[in-house]
Amino acid sequence: MKYIPLVLLMLSFTSVLQAQDCGTDLMVPKKGAKSTIKATTGKAANMSKVEKSDAEWKKILSPDEFRVLRQKGTEVAFTGKYYKYDKDGSYRCAGCGSLLFTSKEKYHSGSGWPSFYAAADNKNIVIHKDRSYGMERDEVLCANCGGHLGHVFEDGPKPTGLRFCINSASLDFENKEEK
Ligand SMILES: [Zn+2]
Repeated sequence: MKYIPLVLLMLSFTSVLQAQDCGTDLMVPKKGAKSTIKATTGKAANMSKVEKSDAEWKKILSPDEFRVLRQKGTEVAFTGKYYKYDKDGSYRCAGCGSLLFTSKEKYHSGSGWPSFYAAADNKNIVIHKDRSYGMERDEVLCANCGGHLGHVFEDGPKPTGLRFCINSASLDFENKEEK
C-alpha cells in the first residue's frame, strides 16, 4: 500500500512532461538551427474578431476546451478524440466555428495529437512565437477568436514539411456528408 502515493506522483509527473512537449521528441534538435516558420505579425496577429470574457467562454466551452483554447493547455498525448480519426470532413475551431483544417491535410505523425501538414486557409490561423517552458516554439492560434490550437514544427511531410500539432479539444469535426 505504501507504494501507491509514489506511483501516483510518478504518473502525475509523466503527464506534466507529456503536457508540455506536444511531440517535440519527434524533432531532432539541431544546434543553432533557426525556425523558418514565419510568425504572423502586425495587423494579422491582432485580428481576433470574437472577444469574450473568461466567464463567457466558460459558459460555452467544456472544462477541457477552456483549459486548452483559453489557457493554452495541452491535452495528454494519445487521449484526444481526433488523434486517431480518419473521417472525411472539416475541423472547425471548438471556440468559434472557424474552418481550421480538413481531413485532406491530416496525417498520422505518431505524436499522439492530431497532425496536419497544412491549414485549410492560412488566413484563418495565426502563428505566434512561444518561448514558454524554456523552448522556442511556434504557437498556432485561431485568427477569429484567438484560441490556442497547438504548435507547428518543421518535421512534417511533403509538400509543406510542416507538422501542425493540434489539440483535439480545440477542434470540432464536421462530417462532409452532413453538410
Ligand atoms: Zn476560433
